[in-house]
Order: sequence, then C-alpha cells, then structure tokens
Amino acid sequence: MPVEGEAANRPLLAVGNLTKLFGTFAACSGINLDIRPGEIHALLGENGAGKSTLVKMLFGVLSPSSGQILWQGQPVQIPSPSAARKLGIGMVFQHFCLFEALTVAENIALSMDPGVSLANIAEEAKRLSVSYGLPLDPNAHVADLSVGERQRIEIVRALLQNPKLIILDEPTSVLTPQEADRLFETLAKLKAEGRSVLYISHRLEEVQRICDRATVLRHGKVTGACDPRLETPASLARMMVGSDVAHVSAAGTDLKGDVQLEVRHLTAAARTPFAVSLKDVCLKVRAGEVLAIAGVAGNGQGELFDALSGEYPVPDPDAIHVRQKPAGNLGITARRLMGAGFVPEERHGHAAVPALSLSDNLVLARCQSDRKAFIGGGFIGIIRQQAVKRAAKRISEVMDVRKSSDNPAAGSLSGGNLQKFIVGRELDRQPTVLVVNQPTWGVDAGAASRIRQSLVDLAKSGSAVLVISQDLDEIFEVATEIAVISEGRLSEAYPAATLSREKIGLLMGGMDNQADAARETSHAH
Ligand code: ADP
Ligand code: MG
Repeated sequence: MPVEGEAANRPLLAVGNLTKLFGTFAACSGINLDIRPGEIHALLGENGAGKSTLVKMLFGVLSPSSGQILWQGQPVQIPSPSAARKLGIGMVFQHFCLFEALTVAENIALSMDPGVSLANIAEEAKRLSVSYGLPLDPNAHVADLSVGERQRIEIVRALLQNPKLIILDEPTSVLTPQEADRLFETLAKLKAEGRSVLYISHRLEEVQRICDRATVLRHGKVTGACDPRLETPASLARMMVGSDVAHVSAAGTDLKGDVQLEVRHLTAAARTPFAVSLKDVCLKVRAGEVLAIAGVAGNGQGELFDALSGEYPVPDPDAIHVRQKPAGNLGITARRLMGAGFVPEERHGHAAVPALSLSDNLVLARCQSDRKAFIGGGFIGIIRQQAVKRAAKRISEVMDVRKSSDNPAAGSLSGGNLQKFIVGRELDRQPTVLVVNQPTWGVDAGAASRIRQSLVDLAKSGSAVLVISQDLDEIFEVATEIAVISEGRLSEAYPAATLSREKIGLLMGGMDNQADAARETSHAH
C-alpha cells in the first residue's frame, strides 16, 4: 500500500548525532539522517566514508559510541541483529554471511525462529523469490551458487521477516546490468508496498535512477543531502570525494609485445553439478594489452580464473602457457614464480585473512613467491619484519589505502580500501602477467578509478593483463581487447574500439557462439 498524507513525512527511522569510535578514530561522527516510509534513500560516500559502519549500528552489529536512534518516533536500543529484525529492519550485507556447505533453505533457517520447519521455510522462500522476481532454488548448496544468486538468498532472507526497512550495502556491485535491472524492479515493488529502502551504492547513475533522496558521507560526517534526480553524476561525485574524480586514461597502447599468457583449447569438466564446465577456451594476451572478459555472472568466470591462477590446475600442461612455458598443471605458487600475479574475486578468505594485519597478509601472499625479499636466516627462514612493513607501507601509499592505523587488521578496512591493498600487493611485484577477477567489486568511484588506472599503467609498462569483469563501463575503460564468456565458452577477442555494447549483449546471450559454431562446422574438414 503506498504511503500517503502525514504519515508519509514522519520518519520511519531517525538518527541523531550518531557516532562510532574505533579507539580514537571516528568512523562515524555526529551523523543525522532520517528515512521516510516508502522511500528509497541512498547512502553515498567513497570507500572508508563510514557507510557500512553506520548501517551496522542500525542493524545492531555495532553499538554506537554516542547519539540516538529513533524508530517510528521512539528512542530505541538495537543491541543485536535479532533485535533489529524484531523492530522491522532487514539487511543485506556487503560481504555475505552464508555457510557454503549448507543449502539455501538451511542458511535462511539459521536466522529464523527455531520453531519453523525447514520445509515451511523452503516453501515460503520459494514463494517470496517468485513474487519478488528473485529466482532461487531453496535446495541448492550455497557453495555452488554465483555471487548474484547468493545475494538473492540474503534478500529473500531479509524479506521473510516482513521488514519495514530493508538496508542493502552495495548490492549491485556484484550484478550484471540485467540482474541489476531485476533488483530495481524488486526495490520498486518494496517501495510500492510502503516499505523503505536504505540503499548504499557507489554507482551514481543508478542512485539517480532509483533513489528518492540521498545522504552523502565523507570521512565519517554527513557532507550533503539532496534529491539525486536534481544532481548530475559529476556533482554527486564531488560531494563524495570533495573534488573531481580522475578519469582513467585508456590503455590504447600501440605496444604489442610477445604473447605472455596463452590458453589453448582449455576444456575442464564442472567440479560440481552447479558449476560451469569450460569448453575449448582459447585466448592470447600480449605484453602491453589488457584483455577484458565480459559476461553475465555464473558463466564460467570463476572456473576460468581458477584454471588460470592454478587454484585448480588442469591435467594438460599445454592448455595454459605463462610466458611461453607450459603451466596448466602447475599450482598457484609455481605460476607466481614464473612472473604471474592473481587477484581473485572473493576478497575475504581467498585474498586476505581478515583477522591478520596488512603486513601479515602480505607475508602470507608472498613468502613463497618472493622468498628473497621477505625471508632471511637461511634454512630456518626468518621473516624480515621490517622489509614486510616497508612493503605494506609502500603499497598503501601507492594505492592511497585509507586506514585507521599504521598496520591494521585487513578486516577493519572498508571493502574498497582492502581491494586497493590487494591489487597493490600484486602490482608491487610487477608481474609480467596479471589476472584479476572483478577488480572493483563493491568499490566506490574514486577507488575504482585508482584500481583501473593501475591496471592500465601495468599494461603500458609492458605486462599482459587479463581482467574478468561484469561491469561494462569498467571493461570499456580498461580494455584493449574484449572477449565474452557465455556458458563456459569464450568468444574470439575483438579490439575494444570496434565493439559495441549491443554486440557484447548478443555475445553474452551466446548468440554469436551459435553463429561461430555453425561457421566452424561448415569450414571444418
Ligand atoms: P565504507 O563502508 O563507507 O566504505 P566503513 O564504514 O567500512 O566505510 O569504514 C569506515 C572507516 O572505519 C574506515 O576507515 C575503516 O578502516 C574503519 N573501520 C571500520 N571498521 C573498523 C573496525 N572494526 N576497527 C577499526 N576501524 C574500522
Ligand atoms: Mg562499506
């Protein structure tokens, strides 16, 4: 039911002077904000601005250092997520909170009252997923699901509690344009039902498209509130970063060196019933090139990255060549020693251990492949702490990593700052071959442009760079060549300058694969 009249203007949630200190560092400082019933309210701000910290206080994950929260006009304490849910607040986190070994329904059950049967939960989840346009199989195992599908679980899980306010932390950074459009339809439906949405995003165009109001944070403080539809992406970006966002200067190198990464007829069976098998994938990346691989989530991107990085080696050494040497059967460390670097999609767990400091994370990633730099003491192997700290400092400076102390735990960094550190860690080794999967997932405009520029610069300096991304804007910003992955098949690579979005859309749908297949058959033999 749409909300009308006076009730529409009384805030559902109002935040007064809300502050969160970590030690002496104010992640949020004197925040004032109100959310009206039935509105989609954007929370904007660059990485480290305090957005996640703010919404964690609203959802009872963090307790405020001072200030107050009013819910429907009444002051409330929100000591836990279950207290937040009881009030009518649901949340979809930036980093999903799902157990990979459990099914969709089992994961949902974990946040429900113990009394409800699994069968009922599965049925209700199914019903909601259909009614809100979020296709989901309650019996699938989370381990086998794409990032986009995992997000749908979180949304359905939040909806099951019939919330009045639903908070989404950077939801579209993991979605394809089509999936994002579908999410916007879901949000429009929630709004039409009179629910409120607090929407954190770094994508200014989409904030303008779907949000009624926006509050902008910078360095933990509110720096602006506006109707985003009356702003331009540039004016919003200025509110966020306080200056104009740098444009990535495109790769466009004429330098075409030797082939440094080559995949020859790589075929790999799916490891699980829900995974994608790779089918006769061929590609070449030369020194000076950025090959970008576009595609809808869950079309084999993760599987291709695993094969390229050696996380899952393939039996045939010749299927993958790193710097013109067979490497298909080698593991990740051996490939790093050959001069390759890798940045995986999942930052927590795969790329960084949240509880360890940045310098310890650096040692973990590099102690084997950069033994000389970081390990001394001969056979005993003593970590050169000073060298490690210096490297961590250098990386933070080069990539402009914002942090609350000198060498904090990786988990305390905001998503974008952690990603800058992880990308910087690989770049610091000056790899001849770099393979990155979703380099700017969940990263704001300022940090994303910093990361993209660093990838382009690496290629310009003579390395071969392969970027797997679902973000077409990103692809056009960095790529010299573009190929599209669809159902585990990779299209041929096209010079970026010759490829339109429409053509990529067709390739994403596998349309041209059929045409290619037909052509191959008629030319064969
Ligand atoms: P955003 O979501 O806007 O990117 P966050 O709210 O995650 O930013 O982080 C805001 C700031 O607070 C960052 O500088 C981050 O490093 C710091 N921070 C966040 N959580 C912690 C924590 N648990 N301990 C110390 N500092 C933290
Ligand atoms: Mg955040």
